[in-house]
Parts: sequence; structure tokens; C-alpha cells
Amino acid sequence: MPARRGRYNARVTSSSAFAGLRRVPPPVNDTNLGYLPGSPERAALKTALASMAAEQADIPLFIGGHEVRTGHTVPVVMPHDHGHVLGHFHTAGPTDAQAAVDAAVAARAEWSSWSWEARAAVFLRAAELLATTWRPVLNAATMLGQSKTAVQAEIDAASELIDFWRFNPFYAQQLQAEQPLSSHGVWNQLEYRALEGFVYAVTPFNFTSIAGNLPTAPALMGNTVVWKPASTAMLSAYCLYRLLEAAGLPPGVINLVAGDPAAISDAVLASPHLAGVHFTGSTAVFDRIWSTVGEGVKAARYRSYPRLVGETGGKDFILAHASADAQELAVAIARGGFEYQGQKCSAASRVYVPRSLWPSVRDRVIGMMDDMRMGDPADFRTFLGAVIDRPACSRISGYLEDARQHATILRGGTVDDARGYFVSPTLVETTDPRYRLMQEEIFGPVVTAFVYDDTHWDETLRLVDGTSPYALTGAIFARDRAAVGQAQSALRDAAGNFYINDKPTGAVVGQQPFGGARRSGTNDKAGSMLNLVRWVSARNVKENFAPPRDHRYPYMSEA
Ligand code: NAD
Repeated sequence: MPARRGRYNARVTSSSAFAGLRRVPPPVNDTNLGYLPGSPERAALKTALASMAAEQADIPLFIGGHEVRTGHTVPVVMPHDHGHVLGHFHTAGPTDAQAAVDAAVAARAEWSSWSWEARAAVFLRAAELLATTWRPVLNAATMLGQSKTAVQAEIDAASELIDFWRFNPFYAQQLQAEQPLSSHGVWNQLEYRALEGFVYAVTPFNFTSIAGNLPTAPALMGNTVVWKPASTAMLSAYCLYRLLEAAGLPPGVINLVAGDPAAISDAVLASPHLAGVHFTGSTAVFDRIWSTVGEGVKAARYRSYPRLVGETGGKDFILAHASADAQELAVAIARGGFEYQGQKCSAASRVYVPRSLWPSVRDRVIGMMDDMRMGDPADFRTFLGAVIDRPACSRISGYLEDARQHATILRGGTVDDARGYFVSPTLVETTDPRYRLMQEEIFGPVVTAFVYDDTHWDETLRLVDGTSPYALTGAIFARDRAAVGQAQSALRDAAGNFYINDKPTGAVVGQQPFGGARRSGTNDKAGSMLNLVRWVSARNVKENFAPPRDHRYPYMSEA
């Protein structure tokens, strides 16, 4: 960082004063490319896939802008061909984690003194790079390393992340414009300071866009970051870091450490400078982080109260009313349940269908499942790739075994991990609405259906609301508008993202701010001003242009 001092001459100490004068380019959602046969994007992606698959990346840690190779490495493999090694990443021990904390703390003074516009420019440039030359690179890394199809990679690693990097600067600008009232003789200003300390970003395997957003949203607001990506998404994490470097992110602003998550987290969370945690992943891990921070608060370890932002698990529902369109409902179940192998936090995994509609919906869904090709995502005819790793395979197998004994598997139910971690798309029917497959997050291509009596609509609304501890996404399918209204009201607390006649996945930045409550997280809505607010600590500055010159008040004089 100090090496850059002086090269950049855009320090604005009270940047809020300039809000309204400068405007970021108005954000517009990125357009997903089609990848049709013969298209240039398809050719570019195929080239990137071939060259990345033929190489082995040597992935270091990045601490203070330096590449750190510890020599303790872990292979990066393709989930759909686990014998194929894409590279190795170096793992961090507690000393490396501490070095990353120190680097982040050291970089804060300079980075947080940049005007927000100067910081925004880095991420706007990153968006531009990702929309063009880096697009095939990040898509290919996501397809090979996380087993996404071309379309799933495109909506995640390209479009969603481009949107995060274009919309967040716009939201930062809106936040800067939020200013208090001033009266004659007094000027009040709110200064949106970075948190004092550093932010720890911990990211999941399933979305490259989340891996990109969690460290960069706090960084945009002036924070410096220690970033721990998931061990099963290291190829795309590496490409992300390189992209940010190419966009001009100064050394030390984001420090990447990978390896044993518990050991790294214990070291990082022990720092008195911990100012916030930006987490996405499972509920159990976020609980652990929260408890560790709680212990730290109890021990008066931290200089300030760390902000805890976590988006966690889901058990997302589709509720059909008897007036629903069977074909639209079936497509929503098939796409919402099985795209990306059901490994989206928002994936539809419990469905409630009235008896009158069920035979036709069931047969349509099964027809679509039979048409879904599973295999290597580099083959563009593939609809489903593999699940992420062997533990995921075993976890899902356990649920399937349970379903064999206590429910009815209508289609699928097979696991084959010989070459890749393949789980066939599975439709389960249960007669017990509180069966564990209706309650617990499986995180695989398994949809469980409960068929309700058409006359039990009100009871079913209560059932949907009360069955699972999560409250992330949910959908109602109905042509009857009154039924839509009833569901919207009865399920107010059951989902942070509620869909009417649409599948519960596929939130778009700027259009459906994303996040859920209950055990699904703190609902700080990624990709919105609500999220950015968590990464600033406002300072109010009152300036008096005419300070009083007498300590006595006028009313004190004798009449
Ligand atoms: P995970 O909880 O296994 O891992 C998430 C991150 O936490 C990884 O970086 C991992 O290395 C780290 N981690 C694991 N153990 C840890 C520990 N003991 N201490 C500190 N960090 C630890 O989750 P995953 O398998 O990568 O992702 C799937 C989960 O993420 C699902 O539960 C899914 O619902 C959730 N998710 C939620 C959202 C959302 O917006 N709500 C989005 C994506 C994923």
C-alpha cells in the first residue's frame, strides 16, 4: 500500500459533501449471453474450458498483495471428473491468517481515505473486465471447478457479479446522499466512515458471484478485508482475485487465505480489530461464528462490536393452489428444484400440491426429469452436472436411503460417485407433511412433495409457514387472485424472497434484493443499500457558523 501513496491524488476527506455532484454510470442489468451454436461467446467459452482443463493452476494465498506459497497444498478437482486435477491451492495456517489480518489492518488508513468515487471506479472497472475479456475465464473456472452448466455459470459468475459491481456503487452513491437537516447558522453532515478494523468475508462454494460480492461490498465502503473462500471453489476464487488485481485493487485491501476453515476462522475471529463478518454458507457454520464472536464480546476482546451479516440455509417451498396452471407449476418445480443440482440456497425442495392437480403435475415433472441429461457441463447438452464433493454425495445418499424407507421415490434416487459425484434428480412423495425431507436442507437435487386435500387450503398455509426453521424463498402458484393474497399474507414471515407464479430461484441484483430471516440469516439483502449500510459507521459532523459568545441565556435576565 505505501508504495502507491502519492500516485493517486484523489483524497477527499469529507466525500459526502460531493454527493449529488458526481454520479456513477446508471446501472443496468447485464444481459445473459445465449451461447447458441456458432456464437462468438460459445467459441470463446469452449476455448477457455479447453485451456483451463489442460493446465494445473498453482494457487497461492494473497497477503498484502504478496503471493504466499506455504507448500502445504490441496488439489482442486472437477466434481464431475474427480480424477482430473485443475490445480493445487496453498493452505494457510494460523500464522498466515494473522499475517492477513495485519495486512488488512495496515491497508485501512490509505484505502478508507480514498473518496468513495475512487473506490467505486475500481469495481466499475472490474465489472467492465468481467463483461468482456474475463467473462469466458470466470465462466470456465466456475463450470470446471464447481460443475455448473454454461447457462448456470453465465447467470452467476458473469451477469450477477457484473451487476453487484455496477449496482453497489450506485447504492453507495444513494447512501452518501442521505444527509441530515441543517438550520441557519449550522451545517450537519453525515460522513459514512469505514468500520474501524477489518471485515472477515467467508464465502460458499455455490455462487462465484457471492464469492466476489462478499469481500468487495465492504471494500467499496472503505473497509479492508480478509477473504476466506470455500476450498471447493478455489479455481474461480483465484480468477476473481486476479481480475480484481487487473482492475486496480491496491495490495492489502482484500487478503485471500484458504485452507482449514475452523483453524483460519479461530485465528481471524480472535483479532481485536475484527469489525465485521460477511458470511454466506450453512446455518451451522454461521452459528459457530456468531458464538465465537459472542465469546469474544464476553471477554471484551474487540475494540468495537463486530457487525455480523450472514445469509444461511433454506428449505424453500412451492405452494400450489387448485387454480394453478399445471404446466407452469411443473416447470417451476423442475427448474427451481434441479438446476445446479439443487445446490442453490433458494432451490425449491418442498412442494405442496392439491390432490386435484397432483397427477398431472407429477407426470409432467417426471417427464421433464427424464429429459434432463446429467454429465460433464463442458458438453452443452448437459442439464445437470455433479454435486460438489464426496461429503455432499454421502449426505444426500443418507436422505435418499431414508426416503426409500419412509416415503416413496417417484423418480431418481441413484448416486454414482465412481468418476464424478453424480446424484440423479429425485422426486419424493410423502404423506407426512412434517417428514424430515420437508424440513431439513438437503442441498442436492431432491424435491419432496406433499399432496394436500383441496379443501385443506387454510391448514396448508399454516403448514407451509410452520414446518421448517428456515425462511429464505418461497413461491405461490395460483390463477385465483384471492388465493394469492391469502398466501402472501399468511406466509409473510416464511420467506425473505416471495414469488407469485414464478420459481423461487434466480433473484436478480437491483430487482429482487436477496436474503431471508429466521434460520436463513440476518436478511441484510445482498446487492442493495440495506447491505452497504452494515459496512459503514456514520459520523455526524455539526458545524456552527455562529457559536454563542455568552454563557447566560436571555431568559435569565430580570424583567
Ligand atoms: P459451508 O457452511 O459448508 O461453507 C461456507 C463457508 O464457511 C466456506 O468458506 C467454508 O470453508 C467455511 N467454513 C466451514 N466450516 C467453517 C468453520 N467451522 N468455521 C468458519 N468457517 C467455516 O457452506 P457451503 O457448502 O459452501 O454452501 C452451502 C450453504 O450455503 C447452504 O447451506 C446454502 O443454503 C448456503 N447459502 C446461502 C445463501 C443465502 O443467500 N442465504 C447463498 C448461498 C449459499
